[in-house]
Amino acid sequence: MNTQGSVTPPNEDLWGAVLQQFNRAADHLALKRGVREFLAFPKRELAVNFPVKMDDGSVRIFTGYRVHHSTVLGPSKGGIRYDQGITLSQVRALAMLMSWKCAVVGLPFGGAKGGVVVNPKVLSPRELEHLTRRYATEISILMGPESDIPAPDMGTTPQVMAWIMDTYSMHRGYSTPAVVTGKPIAIGGSYGRMEAPGRSVAIAAREATRRLGMSIEGATVAIQGFGKVGSVVSALLAQQGCRIIATSDKQGGVFNPGGLDHARLVEHKRQAGTVVGFPGAEAISNAELLELPADILVPGATEGQITADNAARVRARLIVEAANGPVTPGGDAVLAERGIRVIPDILANAGGVIVSYFEWVQGLQQFFWTEEEVNANMDRIMVRSFEAVEQIANSRGVDLRTGALIKAIDRVAQAVLIRGIYP
Ligand code: NAD
Repeated sequence: MNTQGSVTPPNEDLWGAVLQQFNRAADHLALKRGVREFLAFPKRELAVNFPVKMDDGSVRIFTGYRVHHSTVLGPSKGGIRYDQGITLSQVRALAMLMSWKCAVVGLPFGGAKGGVVVNPKVLSPRELEHLTRRYATEISILMGPESDIPAPDMGTTPQVMAWIMDTYSMHRGYSTPAVVTGKPIAIGGSYGRMEAPGRSVAIAAREATRRLGMSIEGATVAIQGFGKVGSVVSALLAQQGCRIIATSDKQGGVFNPGGLDHARLVEHKRQAGTVVGFPGAEAISNAELLELPADILVPGATEGQITADNAARVRARLIVEAANGPVTPGGDAVLAERGIRVIPDILANAGGVIVSYFEWVQGLQQFFWTEEEVNANMDRIMVRSFEAVEQIANSRGVDLRTGALIKAIDRVAQAVLIRGIYP
């Protein structure tokens, strides 16, 4: 980063991409230079190295992070990722995206993200629990229901959230369910939270197809990533009448132009641990999936998938970003030139943090809502936010990502100005 006005991205990694998007949107706002720089820097970053006793008696050292990008609008909110490839720069980028996501849908939260450099699939349940409890303890200096509230992300589950909630509560001496969201229902989780990011992606697809004059009924869909988010998108779009022709996971993809049967695919994945090998489907790579002739493409796995290199070969008319940061700025430019509509991550998958907000409110009040109430309230916020973003994008002549970022950055900047710079 330089500190002179606009912030220069260091390279084409996710942090570089997120800063580039930030700069493009900030150029549309008459922000004071100091405010712009304030918003471009993360507020605080914690890196921790900690030991975990493994089942064979050995001790291994793991590295984890927790980054708060902003706490201007309220406590920071953001998921925890367990993945072998995590870096501080990536967590920093994801934390900034969380600030804009919370702001664009009107939540009283700032943005955060966390992660541990680990492949959770190679740990035993006991090792996973020990790693989680130690990491939670290490970041507990930042965590709290009024300061920083984690949630699940790639590689983490409601069980992991339960261990974090229990660890935090043991240190405090009383139960503190509102310290994490995405918990199991039995300990104060919210109905609808597991499905929420996927549900909001399906709502975004519904809203976008209607505006493009496309029929959702019979539309073909390719979904990269059949995890917590992608598998729900698959189920809900199939319910809306779409034909899911392809999906994938880290190990590869499956393609059937006639459509993949959701229930059978879920069962196959449960038994085989992957979608690969699903009977009746052709094996494809993750790269091939992105270039299939589907009406709607849902990148729902990880960042940096659609780039300047492959965007020219994308054949979908509509891309709905279920993952965070799946299209790079170079990819965005090519897609815009080709008239392919992109519904940006901070809007499309915001259902996760919207229902996390509902879960936090329910936890603080100890007053719980029905699944119908949760889903209806989330749908209402999604439709209202979609309309507001579209209006800004149309009035400024920009794409929906830039429109969403203008709305989000403006909201946080206004709060900075009203609060003032301490001291
Ligand atoms: P998950 O771990 O449940 O699933 C991830 C899926 O993507 C798996 O199928 C995995 O095999 C696949 N995958 C991972 N890396 C891949 C790669 N390099 N190439 C191809 N496939 C790969 O995670 P999730 O919670 O479904 O998260 C997926 C994306 O959605 C992430 O970008 C995450 O940040 C974002 N997201 C998650 C939530 C949430 O609440 N879980 C909310 C909003 C956004």
